[in-house]
Amino acid sequence: MSNPHQNAITQLETVAAVLRQSYEDKESFDAAIDQLKTPDRVIEGKLRIRMDDGKVKTFQAYRSQHNNAVGPYKGGIRFHQNVTKEEVMALSTWMTWKCSVTGIPYGGGKGGVIVDPKKLSQGELQRLSRAYALFVAPHIGPWTDIPAPDVNTDGQIMAWMVDEYETAAKKRYKTLVENPIATFTGKPLLLGGSKGRTEATGLGGFYVFENLAKKMKLKKGATIAVQGFGNVGYWFAYFANKAGYKVVALSDSRGGIYSAAGLDPEKVLAHKEAGGTVGSYKGKQITNAELLELDVDVLVPAALENVLTKENAGKVKAQLVLEMANGPTTPEADEILAKKGITVIPDVLANAGGVTVSYFEWVQNLQGYYWEKELVLERLKGLMDEATDRMWQLKNDTKVTSRVATYMSAVKKVVDTMLLRGNEE
Ligand code: GLU
Repeated sequence: MSNPHQNAITQLETVAAVLRQSYEDKESFDAAIDQLKTPDRVIEGKLRIRMDDGKVKTFQAYRSQHNNAVGPYKGGIRFHQNVTKEEVMALSTWMTWKCSVTGIPYGGGKGGVIVDPKKLSQGELQRLSRAYALFVAPHIGPWTDIPAPDVNTDGQIMAWMVDEYETAAKKRYKTLVENPIATFTGKPLLLGGSKGRTEATGLGGFYVFENLAKKMKLKKGATIAVQGFGNVGYWFAYFANKAGYKVVALSDSRGGIYSAAGLDPEKVLAHKEAGGTVGSYKGKQITNAELLELDVDVLVPAALENVLTKENAGKVKAQLVLEMANGPTTPEADEILAKKGITVIPDVLANAGGVTVSYFEWVQNLQGYYWEKELVLERLKGLMDEATDRMWQLKNDTKVTSRVATYMSAVKKVVDTMLLRGNEE
């Protein structure tokens, strides 16, 4: 299995080799790149919670703070059985680039707990979420580090965390807890959330896709396969279907479905919410592995990392891969896809819509003044379009891949900010 942190380092090294030529002070440039290969710090600890059967269980937890040259660390918290320290480190590195790509004033962070939340009751999930908030409380705040949802976490979990941070953390650490509402994003509307945040990642990805569809002259009925039916995959599929594209395949962690006539994501969701799985919806059953190799125009990995590898990249038939998951393509697969002439839009651009609306949420929380949904979406579209246009221009000017073009401007901005701050004692 590919180590995601090693992948993140390889990606950075590839781009650094290109960027280096334009820096006069190579020593400072190299020092900054070296610093960016590992997070500033990784906080780790054990969360002990009482289970419903009365026994106490321990869960391993992390918060990785990668870089804060541009602004406070920012990024979600993932609850998943396959979380590792290396994964959280990689995800926090990608957050630094992601925030840089759309130009929002944050650095990168990420949290994770090794747990299968599907095996927890609501009460256990609440106690685990509270324990996590207490664990990170001394290290977060609106100007320090701002967590948000990620895989298997949502607005309800953020609400429990805000509450714990505000009440218990104040007692335990006897410190002033700064603006709890502005310390977390992705909150429910009732607790200071932003209109449009729920669908923001999927919609942001759709804005990127529509912009590219014009540039690549994709036709309206183009076929799309989406892997993953969580918040990101669902909303992307929803907007693509509404706009007249043909979503022919969908899947969740248990399997998928194919229909040449196209699927209506809303109906598949209703089926899932009624107790079904995506794979048991009407149509031809397919596996997650088969979905990636379908003869479609557009492939959208929207689940987890390392699904496109050197083993299957050669079999991808799509002409466009839009990475809505974080880190779905290994560096070896990336090379194979590039050789095949497939355009791969990297995660740090494709799925930056979520953190962009998180930024809008934070701004609204700090101002105590809330925006209408139209304004949120208009500003989201503006930033996603600008970032996509910037990437496309650089890609055409320099003849590099979309990933390298995206990383070039993202890494350059962070490095330049670090150099501007200086590193002399
Ligand atoms: N977890 C999301 C991501 O990977 C959102 C992060 C945020 O809103 O801070 O981009």
